[in-house]
Amino acid sequence: MSGYIQKIRAGLTERVIESGMEKSKIPVYCQHCKRKQIIHVFVRAGRSPMNNQTVTCIACKKDFDVLVADPIIGGPFPE
Ligand SMILES: [Zn+2]
Repeated sequence: MSGYIQKIRAGLTERVIESGMEKSKIPVYCQHCKRKQIIHVFVRAGRSPMNNQTVTCIACKKDFDVLVADPIIGGPFPE
């Protein structure tokens, strides 16, 4: 992650804990049909390790892995 994003997250830490609903939209590409789609992730305070999560493509309906640090809470959605 870039230092810029880490700075934003640090600034949001208090609000994230209070609301518990801070989320971020991330573009991902299907590994099968290359379709761009958007996933929503829950932004947690602090650092998290990147991990693979599986989503189902909106176009070809196949599962593919995305590498994100935060838990996916919605999507994928059309761009
Ligand atoms: Zn696909």
